[in-house]
Amino acid sequence: MPRTDVLLADPRLAEAERRLGRALVKAAVGRAQQRARDGQIAPDQVADAAVAELPARAAGLTPVINATGVLVHTNLGRAPLSAAAVDAITAAAGSCDVEFDLAAGVRGRRGAGALDALARAVPAAEAVAVVNNNAAALVLAATALTSPQAAEIVVSRGELIEIGDRFRLPDLLACTGATLREVGTTNRTTVADYASAVGPQTAFVLKVHPSNFRIEGFTAAVGVAELAASYGVPVVFDIGSGLLAPHPLLPDEPSAATALRDGAALVTASGDKLLGGPQAGLLLGRADLVRVLTRHPLARALRVDKLTLAALEATLTGPVPPVAAALAADPASLLDRAERAVARLVAAGLDALVVPAFAAVGGGGAPGVELPSAAISLPEALAVPLRRGSSAVVGRLEAGRLLLDLRSVPPEADEPLVTAILAAARGALS
Ligand SMILES: *Cc1c(COP(=O)(O)O)cnc(C)c1O
Repeated sequence: MPRTDVLLADPRLAEAERRLGRALVKAAVGRAQQRARDGQIAPDQVADAAVAELPARAAGLTPVINATGVLVHTNLGRAPLSAAAVDAITAAAGSCDVEFDLAAGVRGRRGAGALDALARAVPAAEAVAVVNNNAAALVLAATALTSPQAAEIVVSRGELIEIGDRFRLPDLLACTGATLREVGTTNRTTVADYASAVGPQTAFVLKVHPSNFRIEGFTAAVGVAELAASYGVPVVFDIGSGLLAPHPLLPDEPSAATALRDGAALVTASGDKLLGGPQAGLLLGRADLVRVLTRHPLARALRVDKLTLAALEATLTGPVPPVAAALAADPASLLDRAERAVARLVAAGLDALVVPAFAAVGGGGAPGVELPSAAISLPEALAVPLRRGSSAVVGRLEAGRLLLDLRSVPPEADEPLVTAILAAARGALS
């Protein structure tokens, strides 16, 4: 059995150590030595086996081709970033002027580029701020805008929502010490319900977009415009998905621009849903309120790092992000991509066909919206090898077939997708 120090001196493993660090390379060597002890390989094959065991990168996160047809897939990292955003992250990763004025040589406004880009994107907002995520934006608003005299947040019972993974908005707000004053019922909340609850003890009225469900039938809700005009207390609107302006395909998704135009004093939203950027919480609205939020001590605990600021700015100023491109993709082009891929798979002897499909926005947004799409249909048995392959592919199982929906796959991933399918099929058959 070759000794560990001898193996680590192998030029390939020495190079890997510079890239991955000693621990990961030693672990790969250990696994290869174990295979030799188990008699699976000969002692002179241990170095090659260790090279084969090396992880691709130092972080355990595996890149995935998202072929689920869910454009914003929370378990797959929500919005994939644009190439411009990835470049911006790389450029900011070392030392950078995130909080430094290079011209004057003095401290500068932190994240000025991203904040200015956000302000330009939503001219209706007097001021903007960015925190760690939308949950953080809500915590900050609930903490900084309430006081012992005005501790109540008035909210409709129809908007006390659970986002997912047991994240419940009312619990989040209550843990800040604010008092939730629930009004109305699950399906109906009227102006009179708000009117009887709002008073001097009210800090603000909260509107929450029920992102991931719809109530139909005997319903009533009060819009932001009416709330904003009625009570003289600020209306804070959690729009959820982060659309900055209305989207023609998603008429039921509120946008920051419309919410502010309707009179919302403050809008909160996620950066990594429909906006297509990094995880972030956007706060847009009245300058006096944004100032109270950004000067609160908690703001420091919720602030975003330079990588997020870089990616957010590039998302706002750069080319159309992947989520928006996927949303806008023309069904005929998706069909064309599916047909090209399937032709190559069939030529290689695979049981593959093109099927029509419906994709979804996901990420707790636009429930019920079905986006016409095209999918590659494959034998279900390929699901596991595709997930575990060197380019991991995640699709969805439907009626005994594995469907790879191309609406959530960026066009530049078609080639790696076909390669991954061919490799998975070879592995599954051998
Ligand atoms: C997604 C969502 C949140 C949580 O946003 P994060 O950015 O994940 O913290 C809060 N409110 C609504 C309405 C949402 O849709």
